[in-house]
Formats: sequence, structure tokens, C-alpha cells
Amino acid sequence: MKKKKRAELSQNIIAIVYDFDGTLAPGNMQEETIFRAYGIDKKKFWARSQQLVRNRGYESTLAYLRLLISDPVFRDRPLSQAALRRMARKIPYYPGVADGYFQELDRFMRSIPEVREWGVTLEHYIISSGLKDILDGASIRKFFKKIYACEYDYENGRPVFPKLVINDTNKTQFLFRINKGRLDLSEGINEHMPEAKRRVPFSNMIYIGDGITDVPSMTVMNKSGGHAIAVYDPSGEVPREVKEMIAEKRAEHFAPADFRPNALLIKILHRTLKQIIHSISFRLSSKRSTDWVRRHW
Ligand SMILES: [Mg+2]
Repeated sequence: MKKKKRAELSQNIIAIVYDFDGTLAPGNMQEETIFRAYGIDKKKFWARSQQLVRNRGYESTLAYLRLLISDPVFRDRPLSQAALRRMARKIPYYPGVADGYFQELDRFMRSIPEVREWGVTLEHYIISSGLKDILDGASIRKFFKKIYACEYDYENGRPVFPKLVINDTNKTQFLFRINKGRLDLSEGINEHMPEAKRRVPFSNMIYIGDGITDVPSMTVMNKSGGHAIAVYDPSGEVPREVKEMIAEKRAEHFAPADFRPNALLIKILHRTLKQIIHSISFRLSSKRSTDWVRRHW
């Protein structure tokens, strides 16, 4: 416990925060899981969801969450937590994500002397507008310290109401939770916390996202001294919105969502991690010499 406290004050924790759909996995997570299991046509489903937005003023995340409860197929055969977790096995990932990316990054960290010297640790987080229950069943779940995504409240085993909704703009709240170390929703987030008391300073954070829905998060990262990387489907061209994110300086770098060793994204990550590790090391070694001088003079 004592050790943990000291580590937190050293601000030697690095966090990589990922969007999920289009960042770690192609498409929407509902498509390969729920839609497949229920034989739902994705175009029709998203069109109905859009109708709720246009005709009835729904917020778009709430619109899809509502359909997954009230559409006739789900009324007849409601989703359950266990079924969602089981369906997660069907999620297709971008290259490398499910086969070695997290382990490779750990090996990379361990190979850097300053990481050992200053006890630097790396944590991974997901902030997604998809469903937490699907992500909790994902094969890569164990690599994440915390996953934030939409959650249902269940009564008698069926979802009755969304208890947590995550959309593009409120995603930023969770960046501050990671920053302040207040990971639990029951913990307040709004009171002021001095920079030196924050568990993971923004300069130690890297956000990886793929699209327009990540713009608010990338903007927070950039304005707060953090790092942002835009990714796109490796099988296609660089999309216009990724080019715009770079041109508008919302993201520092962009690369195909290829997480295999030697891919451009990994090179960018290695460089960014080294940069963060050097500044942690510089800060902690200057602090050590100042403390020494104070004690001896
Ligand atoms: Mg996305």
C-alpha cells in the first residue's frame, strides 16, 4: 500500500486510451455480435436508429440503446449479459491486436533502462460508445485496467434502461477520470486537483481513435499536453476525416490500424512512449538531486 502511494506521487504511470470501434476492431461491435446472432440487417438497424434521432429527437447513442431493448426481436428474445459476453468471441480485431500487441509493448517497456530505474508502468483503457457487456467478454479484456462503455441495468435478466451512456462528447469525462485517478463512477470528478496530485498527468497519456467521434477527446488531449494518434482501416485509403484531424492539429500522428510489430503505428507508439519515459526520468532525477541538495546543504 505504502509503495503504491509513492508510485502515484511519482507520476510514473503511462496510460494508452483507445476508442474501440474502428480503432481496435473494424466496424461496429454490435454488427458481428448481436446483429449476427439475431439475423439483423445492419443498414436497416442503423437507419431506424437514425429515424429516432431525426424524428423524435433522440441522442444517437440512446437511440441505438433503445432499439436493442424495444425492437420486436429483442422484446421476444431479450439480450442478456451472459449472451453479450459470449458473443464477444466473434469480434474481429485489426491485425496484431489479439495476437501479441499488448505483450510486445510490455517487452518494449521492459527493455528501456529508465522504465526499470523509475518504476514506470503502462496501463491500457478503452472508452467506447459500444456495449460494456460485449467488451467484458472480449479475449483482450485482461489487458485493460478499466473499460468505459455503455451499460444497461438488468431486471429479471433483461435490459430495462441504460445506466451509463457514453457518447463522443462525454467521452472526455473519462479522460479526466484516468488523469485524476478517480476511475469509479461513484467518485466525484469536478473538484479541483493540483497537477502534481494527478495519478496520470495528461503528458503521460496517449489517445488512439479513428474518427470524427474522437475529435472532442483528441482536442482535450492536445490542449492538455497529451498525445493523440488517429488510425484508419488498413485495407483502405486515408479517410478524409483523418486528414482533417491532422490538418486541424487535433491528432499529432496518423497510421493504419495495424498493431503488428514493425507497423508504422507501433513505431509511432514506441517513439511517443520513449519521449514520455524520458521526461518522467528527467523530472524524477532532477527531483532526486534537488531533494539531495536540500538534505545536505
Ligand atoms: Mg471509433
